[in-house]
Order: sequence, then structure tokens, then C-alpha cells
Amino acid sequence: MRAGKRLLIAAAFALGLGLAAFTVQAGDHGPHWGYEGDHGPDHWGHMAADFKACSEGKTQSPIDLSNATPEALSEIKFDYKASKLNVVNNGHTVQVNYDGGSSVEVDGSEYKLVQFHFHTPSEHTVDGKSYGNEMHLVHKNDKGQLAVVGVLIDKGAENAAYKAIWSNLPEVANDKKSADVDINAALLLPEEKSYFTYAGSLTTPPCSESVKWIVLKSPIQMSDGQIEAIQKIMHKNNRPVQKMHDRKLKVSK
Ligand SMILES: [Zn+2]
Repeated sequence: MRAGKRLLIAAAFALGLGLAAFTVQAGDHGPHWGYEGDHGPDHWGHMAADFKACSEGKTQSPIDLSNATPEALSEIKFDYKASKLNVVNNGHTVQVNYDGGSSVEVDGSEYKLVQFHFHTPSEHTVDGKSYGNEMHLVHKNDKGQLAVVGVLIDKGAENAAYKAIWSNLPEVANDKKSADVDINAALLLPEEKSYFTYAGSLTTPPCSESVKWIVLKSPIQMSDGQIEAIQKIMHKNNRPVQKMHDRKLKVSK
């Protein structure tokens, strides 16, 4: 095909589908899921065969963190190194992809930090209380199993540790921003690292199970302005809490 013709077709395609491109999250190859109405969490399980766990799974996330059994849980060993800043808006969340070489050790197993991202308001609740935002640090071990560390973010003082990320929030789906600055996820965590833990799932389709959840008990703070800045981009992107079924929630003694 001649380049001119190809350009014409591309232009016609862009014109015709311009509107659709704004509503469909490109880069997301599965069905168009979201957080409201017909595409919302109540419908995820029926949108694709792959998404069945969203409606039929018995170990889904998030949950309300209540009635936890106190136990002498082993300390999570965070071994986070610096990473270049690479932020992507994937249409569902603002995600920071993390350079290799950082990991956590949970119960003697090592999980590598892959990315972290944000949900507004929080997905987990604590005794029914919702927080302004929640960060998920996603880790994978060499068997491909996931361990996600959740950090609850309360409205309060401005948080300087998040400045570099917040200055580079990609505003439109599929936008990416990179900056020649180092960030260190260790600085984004609360000092006190006691935690809740339970067996759960991804909180987005396909809602795959066998995710080891570790939600830190101590929230961190961010200013109203910081929480609003990310909310303005992603709007509401939290899945409601799921049934516990036959699961045990543990908390550090
Ligand atoms: Zn998440």
C-alpha cells in the first residue's frame, strides 16, 4: 500500500474512532472493564471466561480487615533499592514500574518488586473504615506467585516522599512519564511495619487467586491536595470489599 493511502486510512480511522478511543482503554487487550455501571465490579465475572474468579472465587480481595487473629508473624524483610522513575497511566490506575533488584522476604521466600500503583479511595477497609487512598506494591517470586504489600493512605500532612512521583503523574490513559530522578520505595512505607495477612486475589480482572496479601497496619499520610491530584486522574478506582468465606485473617501481635 502506498504511504499516502495508508495515511488516509489511518486518518479516517482516527476520526471515526476518536471518540471510542477516549472511552476504551487502549493497551488493555481484554474486555472493557471499569468501576462504574455496566462495566463495574459486579459485572466483571461475566465479562470474559478468564474473569470467572471475580464472581465465583472464594478467596477474593479486597476485604474488610476486622476480627483478625493476633499471631507472632515473622517480620517482612524489605530490601528495596533505588529505581529510575517510570510512571504509566494504564487506564485503570497510575502505576510506577520499578527497576530490578528490589525484593521482600516473606516467610523465608523472596519476592521481587515489579511495580506499585494506587487506588482511590482505599480498597481494604479496617473495621469498616475506608482510607483516602491505598498503594499496592506488587512482588513476584521465581515461581510466578504474587505477594502484594498494601499501604493505607490517610488524609493528613503533605507527604514529601511522594513529590517526585506526584510531579510526574500521567494524566491520560496510556500516557507514560519518565524522569531522570531516583526514587526509593523504602521511603514510601510507614516506619512501623506490623501487618495483616491473608490469602486473596488480584483486585482487578482477572481477579486471579493465590495472592499473598500483606497490608501494613500503620497508615501513612498524604495531604488532601495530593489525594485529590490522583483522584482527579483516575476517579474512583477501588473494588468493594469481598466476602471472607472460609479464610483466616492474621495480624502481627
Ligand atoms: Zn491494586
